[in-house]
Parts: sequence; structure tokens; C-alpha cells
Amino acid sequence: MAKIKNTVIDGNTAAAHVAYAFSEVAAIYPITPSSPMGEYTDAWASMGLKNVFGKPVDVIEMQSEAGAAGAVHGSLSGGAMTTTYTASQGLLLMIPNMHKIAGEMLPTVFHVSARSLAVQSLSIFGDHSDVMSTRNTGFALMAATGVQETMDLALVSHLATLKAQVPFLNFFDGFRTSHELQKVEEISFDTVKKLIEPEYIERFRDRAMRPEKPVVKVAAQNPDVYFQGRETVNKYYDAVPAIVQEYMDKAAKLIGRQYKLFDYVGDAQAEKIIIAMGSGCDTIEHAVNALTKRGEKVGAVKVRLYRPFSVKHFLDVIPNTVKKVAVLDRTKEPGAIGEPLYMDAALALAPKNITVIGGRYGLSSKGFTPSMVKAVYDHLDGKCSHNFTVGINDDVSNLSIPIKEHIHVTPDDVVNCIFWGFGSDGTVGAKKNTIKIIGENTDMNAQGYFLYDSKKSGGVTVTHLRFGKSSVNMPWLIDDADFVACHKPAYIGRYDMLGRIKPGGTFLLNTRVEPDKAFICLTREEQKIIIDRKIKFYVIDALKIAREVGLGSRINTVMKACFFKISGVLPEKVAIGLVKDFIKKSFSNKGEDIVKMNWNAVDKSGEGLHKVEIPTTLPKEALIAPPLLPKDANAFARDIVLPIMTFKGDDIPVSKMSFDGTLPIGTTRLEKRGIAPRVPKWISENCIQCNQCAQSCPHAAIRAKQIAPGNLDGAPESFTTLKSNTKNDKDLQYKIQVYIEDCQACGVCLVTCPAKNKALEWSPVETEREAGENANEAFFSSLPEDVLDGAPETSVKG
Ligand code: SF4
Ligand code: SF4
Repeated sequence: MAKIKNTVIDGNTAAAHVAYAFSEVAAIYPITPSSPMGEYTDAWASMGLKNVFGKPVDVIEMQSEAGAAGAVHGSLSGGAMTTTYTASQGLLLMIPNMHKIAGEMLPTVFHVSARSLAVQSLSIFGDHSDVMSTRNTGFALMAATGVQETMDLALVSHLATLKAQVPFLNFFDGFRTSHELQKVEEISFDTVKKLIEPEYIERFRDRAMRPEKPVVKVAAQNPDVYFQGRETVNKYYDAVPAIVQEYMDKAAKLIGRQYKLFDYVGDAQAEKIIIAMGSGCDTIEHAVNALTKRGEKVGAVKVRLYRPFSVKHFLDVIPNTVKKVAVLDRTKEPGAIGEPLYMDAALALAPKNITVIGGRYGLSSKGFTPSMVKAVYDHLDGKCSHNFTVGINDDVSNLSIPIKEHIHVTPDDVVNCIFWGFGSDGTVGAKKNTIKIIGENTDMNAQGYFLYDSKKSGGVTVTHLRFGKSSVNMPWLIDDADFVACHKPAYIGRYDMLGRIKPGGTFLLNTRVEPDKAFICLTREEQKIIIDRKIKFYVIDALKIAREVGLGSRINTVMKACFFKISGVLPEKVAIGLVKDFIKKSFSNKGEDIVKMNWNAVDKSGEGLHKVEIPTTLPKEALIAPPLLPKDANAFARDIVLPIMTFKGDDIPVSKMSFDGTLPIGTTRLEKRGIAPRVPKWISENCIQCNQCAQSCPHAAIRAKQIAPGNLDGAPESFTTLKSNTKNDKDLQYKIQVYIEDCQACGVCLVTCPAKNKALEWSPVETEREAGENANEAFFSSLPEDVLDGAPETSVKG
């Protein structure tokens, strides 16, 4: 076996690494979640990294995915080993060229981080809808379950396409695999070289268009010959399964991991099995292992080579004892008898006396858990209806199946951690470092999955980390955390952060509140969980330490050090040593000062970290979180906006959703996020009434109005105004209002304010709430918008 290098990477890196080795040209166009593959390739090429042919890859960025696929077609026709990366509608734009590439029997591999299609709405998250739209292109379709498999099957795809002369689409689940960090064994370029058979590259180049061997391409055929031409390729497709298996076997000898076209897991005498592909297979395998341990006769088939579908290889792995089969598809084809994988499996199993049903799961990265797998086996035992769904509440078509039993499959040595951060606050970056520190410096496995909302910067990020000597190939969200950290005090009372914490677990809160007051600053529900589950509760004022050491508002080094001190993942001394080494490695190119600042932050975090005394009974005081919606909020706000705002969107039933994806307008204003720790305060006496703050705010969280004096009746006492300086004869007043719950504390308005003595200054959000700014905002919002006297519409003020 070749020398093994362990590394912590995501699925996109895994695919791009192998593609780089094999490619002379990469034609790219970015689309989430595949963009990093193109970005890494471009970065490696510009650093001069050589592929297995001894040259950097020639990276060409095109004007769209259609252009990228066209460039791939042209480059392949010219005899260059070529690849591309894409997802979702980007892949659909490639379809016309994919037909041409396959029709001309050109070997290539497209790497796809499979993603939902924009249908009733857009979604950047993962399922197989895009890949399933390419089934008739003639590309072979290879599915990987996780990060390691993405690398390994990319290798097999690149080798197989050269021998088979059939193009391959190597896919893995968008976000779940493309963005999940895992500790994997890297396949070296030397290993790739040992597996490449040069005669197939020579054959490919020999078929290229070149002046000394001219051929006609893209010709037209009429009804007399087109059909026959189509049938010429059958034998090549018939040969693909054996070629893929051959390379799976050859690769296994060097990389030590053996794959089959269809892999069976579970009881050899299973009566009920599930068939699936993609990351869901790992979830199913964990559930199968737990269920077979307690004597249940269940099993599962992981589909790796989906096209061409080899019935022989498929039937070979199905135990003779099987009576019932559920085929799970991560896609939806409205109006079909069944989803694509179900149709293939049902046809292949038709000669057998087996009940086969199909179901849908996990669309748009919807969570798929071992308990849902158990629900599918229960469904096979019970109603056993076809066309079911799992993971949602469909109260319209009633196709969803219930989860009757929650099963836990996490081995005892695995430590589960959840971190609540804020998009762009550095939490995700810090957690990526944490995984690298543990994964690359210890014999533990490490997994990191980052849950972003679509706001990305400024949104909520929830990081799920697992560490352990056992496998942490667990592609579902943690529901039994040993450690929970809240990096953003504003999340207290807003999100159910402690609902998933284990008895005896640890909760770390970044807060300005003194340790002896911290417990009463939690909500009643949070206090109850901490007492009932005997949670260890720690607080730290990370912002204070970060500012003291010169890191400004970057709290992630402080929070990372606290995590290592109290989580118990590694002995504290070892962990802190590794953190400091990592800081040195990461920041030494930015100067000794930056390294020292971060080291100081690590040292000071020990002094600032406090364990909170937990009372044995509930105290009198508790935080009453401000309501997220106004009392008179409409049904849409209550039924849809509120659950989504509080991370309970998974519970919304089908009946509440709009059938065509349309929404009422102006719903953003309902989402009072309250995430800014400090907000601008208006110093009216300094204000020159230029309105530039209102114009510059990227979130419309600071606004200006002229107000007729009569409209000020009933204004809150703290509602200060100025005499307007526009030319008007109505004695108008003027006000700048900060919408403190919408503010993101970006500071743009403060920088923009041109007043000689700044008319805006920072103030803690709590101070502004106490000063009555919420009531001021409500009154301000009720005032007319169109009092423009003296302020022409063509001016900033108008
Ligand atoms: S700090 Fe940023 S978000 Fe807040 S009001 Fe000013 S510009 Fe708007
Ligand atoms: S930018 Fe400053 S001076 Fe201009 S309106 Fe806003 S607060 Fe007043």
C-alpha cells in the first residue's frame, strides 16, 4: 500500500484534488455549492502545482455553465484531458453539450456537488434533482456517500472514463458532503500515476481533431441512419460496469478501500432492505448497524454506479431472504409513477417475489436521521404504501410517514459539539481550525458541518463538530450534544440552543453579564434544562478580552481556547499547545504582533472563563425574551416567519406552504433579529440633517423623516426631534431613527456621518432598549413618509 497522508478536507477539495491530477484543462463557472472546486483548481494552478503530466492545469473561466461545457467539448475534441465542476441549474445549462460529449464518446469527468433545482423557489442546498435531469445524456453516473468516497470514486471515474470512452458524472451531496470537513486519507499523485494506463490516454489523443488526421464532426444525419448510429454505442455502455469494478479493485490494492458497484450492508438474512445513494447511505448504515445489533433482520444497498445500471451486479448483492424493499430517492419527479432510482430498482427486482415501494427524503438538505431510517423499516412492516415521504409533515396528501421511535447510534467515545455563531464573525473559520488541530495532530477522527442560513454574512451559523476514535461519518445534525457554545449573547431566549444538550453536558456562553448574574439572565426554559440535566455552565466576556489584546471584535481565538479548556476533547495542556502552534503557523506571515495578540487571547481566556454556580431550584428571576413578532402579526408571520426565525421551519406542515412559491411582500420587516451588541445613537444637537447615514445603511436600519408638528401628538417621551432645516413654511420637525433590532452593527453610518462633531455614536443595545428606542421606532414607523417640503425628490433628502 502507498504511504498514507491524513488530511482534513471537504468534499469539494476531495473531488478537485483528484480532478487536478488527471486534467490538462478545467473550464469553470461558479455556482454554489460547487464553486470551491473551480476556485481550488485555479489557486493550485496559479501556485504552479503540476498535474500527473507534469504541468499546471490550464483554467478557463467562461461566461456561464453552458459556455464551460462548450469549452470542455472543444477541449476534449482537441485531445486535452479536461474537466469541469457544477451544480443545480448550472448542470442543466450543460446538458446540450453533455449529449454531444457522450454522443462523441469523449472521456471526461464532470464533478457535481448535487443541489436542488430552482422550482417553486430557489434553494442552494443539496439533493439529486439536478443529477437526475441528466439521466439520458449518456454520462455514467457515479454517486459518493461522503468525503473519502468522493475522493476515491473520483479516482475510479477518471480511470474508467479513459478505458470505457464513456464520460462520467461524479456526484456527491451539495453542502452535506461538498462542505463537510472530514479527516480522510489523501490519494497521492504518485498513486494516480501507478493506476493510469497510458494506452487509453494515447487512444483518446489519437481520436482528437488535428490537421494531419482530419475528420468531419457535428455532422447531420437523416431518418435513414440516425437511429442505427445511436445503437452503435450499446457495447461500450455494456462494458462500463465491469470496467468500473476493475478499477475499484485495482485502486483498492493501493488505497486499501474496496468498493463495489452496489454495496450491501446489514444482516445476511435480511427480510427488509432500503436502497439509496449519496450521503443518506451512511445514515442508513449507522441505523442498520444499530438495528441488527438488537436482532432486527434489516439491510441496505448503497448504489455507487447508478448509470449504466447493472441489473446483474445489483441482484448479486440482494439477499435471497428479502421480502420487502423501500427505495429512497432524494429528488422529486412530479407526476411520475415513482422517482428515478425506484423505477430502476423496481424493474430490476420485477422477476422476484418482492414488494418494492418508493419514497422521498432529504430534499434541499432536509435532515435525514437514523430515526427516519427506522421509520422507513417500520413503514415496510406496517402500511407499506408506495410514494411516501419521510422527514416532513405532509398534512395535505398524507404521504409522510411517522417516526415512532428515536434511535441513538453515536458510539460512547464520540464527542458531539454545537457552536452558535454569527455569519462572518469568524466562528466557522475558528471551528475549521479546531477540526484541523484535532484531526491532523491526533489519532482521532473529526467531522465538521456548518449550517448556514441563506443570509450567509450576518446570518446565524450553527457548527456541528464530532470527534472520536470511532468513525464520525455521520451525515446528520447532532441531537445529543456534549458541548454547546453560544458566541452571540443575543441568541439567548431566541433559539432553542439547549434542547439538544445531553445530561451532564457543558454550556459555554459569551456574555458581558457578570458570572453571578448569568443564570438569572437565561430564560426559564434554559434555567430548567440546566438544572434538570445537570449542565455545567461557563461564561466568558470574549469581546472584552479580544478588545484588550487588540483583536477588536474578533472573539474566535478566545472562544476556541475556552472550548479546548473545558470540552475535554483533548487534555488541556496538549490542546493549548496545539492551538498556539496553529496560531503561529497561520499568522506568522502577518507578523509577530498578530501571533502575540492571539497567544495573549489564549492566555487571557483562562483568566476570563468562569464556571457559574447552578442553584438547585429555579430562581425567582429569569429573562423574558422580547416577542419576535408584533401582537397583531398576520397568519403568514405567525405560521411561517416565526418558525423560520427560530429554527423551527422543519416543523411547518405542507398545508401552510404556498403551492406556487409566492409570498406576501414586505416580510423582511417582520424579522426583528436583534443581533447587534451595540447600535448607533443619534446625537441630535450635532446633526446637520444631511441624510447620508440613512442613504448609506446597507440594511435600511437608520432612517430620516420630516414630521408635521401635529403628528407628534402621542409621541413617546424619549422621541427627540429637531427643527427641520429645509425651506418650508410648516414649522416641520426632523428626526433620525435607528431601528435597533434591525441594525447589524456594521458601523457604515458612523463612518459616513459628515458632521464636524459626529452625530452618531455607539451605545450598547440594552441601553437603547431601556431608553425606549423600540417604542420610538414604532411611533416613527407610523408617521407619514411623504413630508418632503423643501426636500426635492432628486436630492438625498428627498
Ligand atoms: S451600524 Fe450599520 S446596520 Fe446599523 S444602522 Fe448603521 S449602517 Fe445600518
Ligand atoms: S449622517 Fe450624521 S449629520 Fe447626516 S443626518 Fe445622519 S446623523 Fe445627521
